[in-house]
Amino acid sequence: MPVTDEFIDANRRYAEGFRKGALPLPPARKVAVVLCMDARIDPARALGLEEGDAHVIRNAGGRVSDAVRSLTISQTLLGTEEVVVIHHTDCGMLTFSDESIRAKLRKEREIDADALAFLPFTDLDASVRDDLAAYRTSPLVRHDVPVRGFVYDVKTGRLREVK
Ligand code: ZN
Repeated sequence: MPVTDEFIDANRRYAEGFRKGALPLPPARKVAVVLCMDARIDPARALGLEEGDAHVIRNAGGRVSDAVRSLTISQTLLGTEEVVVIHHTDCGMLTFSDESIRAKLRKEREIDADALAFLPFTDLDASVRDDLAAYRTSPLVRHDVPVRGFVYDVKTGRLREVK
């Protein structure tokens, strides 16, 4: 059975017990989290979030440049006033380069992706610092709010702040 069909079954059971239909649209805790899409990280449990608490903006690597559109909407229209950037150990972004993924796309699917930056990285703390710098230099996001960066350890579940 395709996973999508499993989702439909799981959702039917979920909706039967659903009691959070009256939450307001803006996040209650006024925070936006930029986080890698890695399947091993459950932000709700790892960060103590409930429905309605936060915007969790996920992409490959948790890259800020890829999240600016969402962050701008979050801050400008939905009142978030704190930002947390989280990269993590054993990230898939440490395993390839722009050159290697472009070559794979060219070889396997005859796609030219030379103009696209996939934003891989080779050093975790450096990638967090790069993203904090990318945040600081974006004209779209707010610069009067706290922005902090972390590395999450997929082996221990712990966050470590990158200063
Ligand atoms: Zn990752």
